[in-house]
Amino acid sequence: MSDFIQEVNKRRTFAIISHPDAGKTTITEKLLLFGNAIKMAGTVKGKKSGRMATSDWMAMEQDRGISITTSVMQFPYNGRMVNLLDTPGHEDFSEDTYRTLTAVDSCLMVIDGAKGVEDRTIKLMNVCRMRETPIFTFVNKMDREVRDQIEVMDEIESILKIDCAPITWPIGMAKSFKGVYNLYTDTIHVFQPGKGHTIPDDVRIQGLESDEAKELLGDYHEEFVDEIELVRGASHEFDMEEFMAGQQTPVFFGTALANFGVREMLYYFTEWAPGPLPRPTENREVEPSEEKFSGFIFKIQANMDPKHRDRIAFMRVCSGKYTRNMKMKHVRIGKDIKIADAVTFMAGDREQVEEAVSGDIIGLHNHGTIQIGDTFTQGEELKFTGVPHFAPELFKRVRLKDPLKMKQLQKGLQQLSEEGATQLFMPQRNNDLILGAVGVLQFDVVLQRLKDEYKVDAIYEHVNVNTARWVECSDNKMLEDFKRKNVENLAIDGGGHLTYLAPTRVNLSLAEERWPDVKFRNTREH
Ligand code: GDP
Repeated sequence: MSDFIQEVNKRRTFAIISHPDAGKTTITEKLLLFGNAIKMAGTVKGKKSGRMATSDWMAMEQDRGISITTSVMQFPYNGRMVNLLDTPGHEDFSEDTYRTLTAVDSCLMVIDGAKGVEDRTIKLMNVCRMRETPIFTFVNKMDREVRDQIEVMDEIESILKIDCAPITWPIGMAKSFKGVYNLYTDTIHVFQPGKGHTIPDDVRIQGLESDEAKELLGDYHEEFVDEIELVRGASHEFDMEEFMAGQQTPVFFGTALANFGVREMLYYFTEWAPGPLPRPTENREVEPSEEKFSGFIFKIQANMDPKHRDRIAFMRVCSGKYTRNMKMKHVRIGKDIKIADAVTFMAGDREQVEEAVSGDIIGLHNHGTIQIGDTFTQGEELKFTGVPHFAPELFKRVRLKDPLKMKQLQKGLQQLSEEGATQLFMPQRNNDLILGAVGVLQFDVVLQRLKDEYKVDAIYEHVNVNTARWVECSDNKMLEDFKRKNVENLAIDGGGHLTYLAPTRVNLSLAEERWPDVKFRNTREH
């Protein structure tokens, strides 16, 4: 096997999906600890909320001279190279999260053991299901009073429509939490309390029927043996094929806060989670083993470093190898560009890596020419598919406080919409600028960023739009006819696509009925 293929096969690229407060940040921190990317966990936690803000990460980066960004964290474990992609943590679900999920090969679902399946997890799982992404599951907070875990498993199965294959099972909970039992190796991993900030000793007891096990469990032993029998009967046996098809999830238990059970999960994750998977393009599937470089942009983020006001375009490498100073073709524009200074994301005190292979993420400095969904290759005319745009559900009209700043406003909105921070619509019948969002928070972020980055004070006004659909029609004559008769409702979006803005759902239904051969799409691929 070539060195290149060996490197590719080591990659495990994933994201964590969870409802806010389930423990994503905490588990991320523990994963970095195991990956030797940080020396001690817990020291970087935000004050009150327990949540790490971007600035905390950056402060941490400066303090320790290590290169961690919130967006991508790369670290080695168990002979693999793990790429963990962060998804925005705020209450709103955002398009960024969805697009990040197009760049991974698997996901880790974190569930709060006391709360079970929550709202946001359902939404995110729906996205994973569209792409049949393999899912690992970690049920968190076993150090607290949690629910009956058989019930939680039932909930995962019935609500999320995925079979559960518990690999470990918790022994007790809260104050009487004793550890986790591995159903496949008949091993007890003994809980070491008070070791939340460091890597705990790996204390094991072999055999649930051993004297040591009986001693550890005491009166609870008999009951636990019965429970395990029940669990085995009520759950599925792990099946690699079903896992790879996204139909079954291996389930692990523990507590991220006390750093227990995470290592057991991470070990199996690096063993079972898929390496880089092939990616579809309009023309063909691209195999990660192909030596020619290719990749697509799934996210653009502004001002990661406040000192350099540049924007970083995040690219998933789909084939081949990135090396410093290489030339890539920016397919949409049809230009070859030399990439001298892509950002790589190795966490920890290591030297800056100058190479990236299939499965890795690199960051390109973007001066405005790169858009979400763009494909880069070594010459081939390819276009990766599947990076979605979602029809917004919320709309506002933007008004300037100072009308002389129109140019800056337009530039700002154009750039923010390229980034995916918001969607911009320009109606055909007037000069309004209408913003669309999937979640309310997006609007606040846009106003703030217009002010900070473009020095424009803007305000929002109500606009009579309820929903938007991207319009397509293969019959040109009909399309022209449609355009003529619907000027009132048509707009061009930030990417130049024709869009139908409907004031009400009823209006949309009527339009769809009247124009059966016109397609009204609620997602658009970049
Ligand atoms: P996120 O919103 O999913 O990133 O959640 P965080 O990692 O910020 O955790 C939310 C809260 O739950 C914080 O106060 C954490 O300290 C707490 N937490 C996380 N994991 C555990 C755990 O295993 N046990 C307990 N008791 N609390 C936890």
